Amino acid sequence: MNRYPKRDDLRAMSGYHSPQVSVKVRLNTNESPIEPPAEFVRELAEAVSGVRWNRYPDRAARELRGAIAAMHKVSPDNVFVANGSNEVLQSVLLAYSGAGRTVVTFEPTYQLHSHIARIAGATVVNGKRNADFTLSEGEVQRVLAEHQPSVTFLCSPNNPTGMAEDPAIIASTIKNAPGVVVVDEAYAQFSPHSALQYVNEDSRVAVSRTFSKTWSMAAARLGYLIAPTWMIEDLEIVTLPYHLDALKQVAGTIALKYLSEMERGVADVVAERERLLGVMRAMPVTVWPSQANFILFRPNDTGRAVWQSLLDGGVLVRDCSSWEGLTDCLRVTVGTPEENDAFLSVLRNALSARD
Ligand code: PMP
Repeated sequence: MNRYPKRDDLRAMSGYHSPQVSVKVRLNTNESPIEPPAEFVRELAEAVSGVRWNRYPDRAARELRGAIAAMHKVSPDNVFVANGSNEVLQSVLLAYSGAGRTVVTFEPTYQLHSHIARIAGATVVNGKRNADFTLSEGEVQRVLAEHQPSVTFLCSPNNPTGMAEDPAIIASTIKNAPGVVVVDEAYAQFSPHSALQYVNEDSRVAVSRTFSKTWSMAAARLGYLIAPTWMIEDLEIVTLPYHLDALKQVAGTIALKYLSEMERGVADVVAERERLLGVMRAMPVTVWPSQANFILFRPNDTGRAVWQSLLDGGVLVRDCSSWEGLTDCLRVTVGTPEENDAFLSVLRNALSARD
């Protein structure tokens, strides 16, 4: 049978994937290298036996939203939860972008912002960053004024470049953006500041977070948004009924009881990140500073070739070398001390073999 043609606007697109290669050291998707606390796993296993499997889950996910709200000292009505922060972002874009509307990003940044916006039917405008990947006040204001976006994305710390956005530029973007401003804070706990303070009923600011990185729960697919109540109400229109299953709701609620363990894990990852940065700065690579759990670097060589040598040595990192503005760049996720040692050793060999 002939294939039925997909939407015209999807023709030039392909799915968003990071290769899932079977390899000893996987440092390509910015997960936490630390397992969640054993006590959490035990508590969760017990709670699972109490799930009423024949019934739909709580559609409003009240307990989980209550626990998240308590942690951030907001009302549960300011909290939206979904299957990973990707689904959170998709919901925002379904509600506020779409055909005839414009979404703005500043590149290079998290590719899913543009990708989901296009799928939602919006026009995407990609503003630029400075050569050091910081945001420029002039460029941000130019893009906002020229394109009047209904959704503007900031990402702090920014993936894949690593640095938190300048708080002054976050503030001025929020002040001047004509539509909704989403600050994607998937890596916020690794960094010194947050945009949560800007969320209130009179602002159009929303901050997205995830359980995938700092909470060591990438397998659960759970993320959330802190936003004004009117925005949470709008998101309910585009959300499928019962989209968040009972198991995930329970897992998220229990996870939040282990806040201090999470914070200790973040501190360990940050210490390892600094160690990696120190060693890498002495190598023939350009290294960008990071306030996240990954490091962007550019070997003084073909990025793709070094990526392949790393893979041949059993270490998978993210190949960003073909992404716009990131020629020859690679991104390594901070792993366990052993994984980081393996990465450094294979990288050292790869670079010296190519001298
Ligand atoms: N935002 C950013 C900036 C990310 O890097 C990621 C994960 N790579 C996500 C959102 C999505 O995370 P998740 O869907 O696992 O919550």
